[in-house]
Amino acid sequence: MFDSLSDKLGAIFDGLQKRGALKEADVTAALREVRVALLEADVALPVVKDLMGRVKARAVGAEVLRSVTPGQQVIKIVHDELKETLGSDGQGLNIHRAPPVPILMVGLQGSGKTTTSAKIAKRLTERDKQKVLMASLDTRRPAAMEQLKTLGEQNQIATLPIVEGQTAADIAKRALQAAKLQGFDVVILDTAGRMAIDEDLMAEVEQVRRIADPAETLLVADSLTGQDAVTTAKTFDERVGITGVVLTRMDGDGRGGAALSMRAVTGKPIKLVGVGEKADALEDFHPERIAGRILG
Ligand code: GDP
Repeated sequence: MFDSLSDKLGAIFDGLQKRGALKEADVTAALREVRVALLEADVALPVVKDLMGRVKARAVGAEVLRSVTPGQQVIKIVHDELKETLGSDGQGLNIHRAPPVPILMVGLQGSGKTTTSAKIAKRLTERDKQKVLMASLDTRRPAAMEQLKTLGEQNQIATLPIVEGQTAADIAKRALQAAKLQGFDVVILDTAGRMAIDEDLMAEVEQVRRIADPAETLLVADSLTGQDAVTTAKTFDERVGITGVVLTRMDGDGRGGAALSMRAVTGKPIKLVGVGEKADALEDFHPERIAGRILG
């Protein structure tokens, strides 16, 4: 679907002098292609502009190394700057607190919030040997509560028993209390989603956050929705404050532009990525891989 950026840049620099310093005209021509590639990958325009400025400043006048072609050298600079924008890897979950440690999951309906709650619970259980309790706070959609319960049963993770007629705040309190009494290390609170951000949703999430005082408030966003995912993250962060992002559907054919904008626009780290529907399809975030994917 996409021509490789490396090929395009190779063509631009083809026939140009292979040694000496990179000239401004050549760099500008190359960056035009890079810019198109980034916009095609759905990176937000201000982020593209900022990145281009930094690449240009580093590339113009740089000595061409003997071991690489000018095209490869520009790509390396772009690659480094992409990685810088994406942030560092190894940002694990912060669960270093007296148990039970609350983790709040927020995001729009369909973003993968419930699936991701189960994925995180499974990883914390199996890899980190934590005793995890999950609770659904989605009082408007009984199906969502059942979904979490089923995921719990399938993956041997405890879920808070469903009690009808309670508010999200009531359920959060009950979950924290149960976790304390029953010796759970981590309690994952899966808040309700909506098709779009609305005042009710924000007020509810805000209230639950005050009650739970979570160690992590993770915004789950669908990477395939591109810049909409970034806008959602920004809005949630401004309103309730998030500590990190989980980008789902990174197994899809998106180019990763959302990841790049996410960090630059919200300033919050991408902590994990979802790479499939199964409960173990969760990975740490690796900027290196995303940078490679964006460059094609
Ligand atoms: P919620 O409404 O935000 O709780 O979303 P769900 O957890 O119900 O997920 C919606 C759909 O997306 C389900 O069919 C999930 O299996 C699917 N899903 C979630 N995460 C991923 C992912 O990383 N990759 C893929 N391919 N599908 C995902």
